[in-house]
Amino acid sequence: MAPAGDREGYWGPPTSTLDWCEENYVVSYYIAEFWNTVSNLIFILPPIYGAIQSYKDGLEKRYIIAYLCVAAVGLGSWCFHMTLKYEMQLLDELPMIYSCCMFVYCLYECFKYKKTINYPLLFLLIAYSIGVTIVYLNWKQPVFHQVMYGTLVAVLVLRSVYIVLWVYPWLRGLGYTSLTVFLLGFFLWNVDNIFCDKLRGLREKLPPLVSVVTQFHAWWHIFTGLGSYLHILFSLYSRTLFLKYRPKVKKKPKGAKYVKSAMSI
Ligand SMILES: [Zn+2]
Repeated sequence: MAPAGDREGYWGPPTSTLDWCEENYVVSYYIAEFWNTVSNLIFILPPIYGAIQSYKDGLEKRYIIAYLCVAAVGLGSWCFHMTLKYEMQLLDELPMIYSCCMFVYCLYECFKYKKTINYPLLFLLIAYSIGVTIVYLNWKQPVFHQVMYGTLVAVLVLRSVYIVLWVYPWLRGLGYTSLTVFLLGFFLWNVDNIFCDKLRGLREKLPPLVSVVTQFHAWWHIFTGLGSYLHILFSLYSRTLFLKYRPKVKKKPKGAKYVKSAMSI
């Protein structure tokens, strides 16, 4: 039986393994979780802008792909929260893993010369993505996905802290802002899950427009969307600084191409 506060809607009963705290089909008959759906715009529009801008600036393809991966997560999440169907849930959750793998590749390869490819790392990340996909398709346990995603985030945090502490301290502001915004989103994600009953009770008493601010899963989208965008900028700046002020090497690596300015990467 659906929890009190939920209504029936266009997409029928949920088949996803997760159903968030926002009351279903309350705002619109066609959108199961309205605020959790529209808040994905921050996951879609800024990254598309970032990808277009990166393309215009002639930046490396890996950053264009990273932006597009974030937009793909946003589109998948939109479909998931709109329908609460299991297939759409996969469209949200699996791209989260793939996009994080892309972030890991960008951040761990930001101090390499141009046109070098780290095949072992690439293979490891592809194997990780395929492994998580196969296990998760057969074992529908959301905690498994959350642990696998959290592991990638931890790997990114460690690398970001290394960069701001020992390589580019002047990127501290951007690095820590991206991290703080992301962690704030994670904190609100937990608030939404743990205090759902209380939040639902509170929303019944508050005027509709005020109660919107208690949709903490939507805030998780907003903060993690912003955090992801800032993370790509941080990764991009680390890369740009390396290419512009790279350490002098006696012998140019085979196939490597140096660049003259930050704008040409
Ligand atoms: Zn969500």
